[in-house]
Amino acid sequence: MSLNNVQLREIYDGLVSRNAHETEFLQAVLEVLESLEPVVEQRPELLEQGVIERMVEPERIVCFRIPWVDDAGRVRVNRGFRVQFNSAIGPYKGGLRLHPSVTLSVIKFLGFEQIFKNSLTGLPMGGGKGGSDFDPKGKSDGEVMRFCQSFMTELQRHIGPDTDVPAGDIGVGGREIGYLFGQYKRLRNEFTGVLTGKKVGAGGSLARTEATGYGVCYFTNEMLAAANDSFQGKTVVISGSGNVAIYANQKATQLGGKVVAMSDSNGYIYDPNGIDYQVIQEIKEVRRARIKTYLDFVPSARYVEGCAGIWTVPCDVALPCATQNELDGQAAEALIANGVKFVAEGANMPCTPQAVAAFQAAGIPFGPAKAANAGGVATSGLEMSQNSMRLNWTFEEVDQRLHQIMKDIYASAASAAEEYGMPGNLVAGANIAGFLKVADAMLWQGVSY
Ligand code: NDP
Repeated sequence: MSLNNVQLREIYDGLVSRNAHETEFLQAVLEVLESLEPVVEQRPELLEQGVIERMVEPERIVCFRIPWVDDAGRVRVNRGFRVQFNSAIGPYKGGLRLHPSVTLSVIKFLGFEQIFKNSLTGLPMGGGKGGSDFDPKGKSDGEVMRFCQSFMTELQRHIGPDTDVPAGDIGVGGREIGYLFGQYKRLRNEFTGVLTGKKVGAGGSLARTEATGYGVCYFTNEMLAAANDSFQGKTVVISGSGNVAIYANQKATQLGGKVVAMSDSNGYIYDPNGIDYQVIQEIKEVRRARIKTYLDFVPSARYVEGCAGIWTVPCDVALPCATQNELDGQAAEALIANGVKFVAEGANMPCTPQAVAAFQAAGIPFGPAKAANAGGVATSGLEMSQNSMRLNWTFEEVDQRLHQIMKDIYASAASAAEEYGMPGNLVAGANIAGFLKVADAMLWQGVSY
């Protein structure tokens, strides 16, 4: 641990002793506290008023049973979570994750990160996250629907358009949002913007599906521009093949890059001629098949078993877009040895602290998730605005706003890093810029919660 400030270290040690088993959450908190050292030195009232102690403790955690009936008529039980972390600048906002790896630690880490990410977007959204250890893989539509209905039967007590607005995340796409929204509407008898990621034509926003992937590339484009460079002619590696990865591929390609490798949790494909995002869309969104089947479309491509190997593929730009801690120190060294020039996180916390340290030590511009993948939640914020106004913007209008938001996020992270004596350190810059807005709102509201 490299926390020098005694009070911050005490806060962190206290957190460790109370949450020793929550490794992902502790990892996320430590990274933020390290960035805040120069801030609390300049502004001691933040510690005196307990702002940081309050910020690392969720305002509310809801944990509940989700019973549902499978196709064989058997009753199954999963565990559901909603962590309402911070509402200082707006209603709680953050996705729902359905994956067997979901634990309270994972949801707390994601909810904590969401506070700063949402703040960075410039929109009035607090931080929250939820999910369940339910695995949608291999389940029928009927099973997913019954699970979602049971999940929402409890969740609806805790959410609302002015209270907490969930969205999708891993395992929660348009299908699941539809089932969740339908159940909320049925139980509450109201059609409101209580969830984002809704179907276009039923309260959804155009460009939401594309937003996170596009946003990662808009952010990376700013990193490239700051180095007088561009995507033109760059070789790009993108891990994952889900929502974020597919649209990051589309935008990176539109901006002149060539995406040569993508993966799923089983392995990765390598296509030196460039991977067409529409083929991945067909495999993953339509057929719900494994990425290996890419070879049926492009027989000249190569498939390699094991997803971690993707980081041995030489590239100029690496965009990890799959899941947390998927790129470790060793993978970072392999990327560096193969000449990677820019790295930006599309997934949440995909790079381990060792990987981030390796990129920074090698002087490689590194875009952290909080900033680089904020385009998804930013566009969810734009969906909320459209719902409140009861009107719809065009694809171009939403995309234009998203692009501007990503440019602004880059500018505020870069300038906070500069102001606090860490020029070029976008990790620290994003943490500080996101933190200050929330901290000032908390100070203004008094010790109200
Ligand atoms: P999806 O469920 O659509 O896709 C996740 C993808 O990652 C799948 O292709 C999955 O493969 C793959 N995957 C999982 N684990 C690994 C691994 N260890 N190595 C390689 N691939 C793996 O999720 P999203 O695309 O929506 O989310 C991806 C990440 O981006 C998450 O961290 C999420 O929190 C973050 N994020 C998403 C946003 C959004 O708007 N969707 C917004 C901001 C962040 P398989 O099919 O084999 O499971």
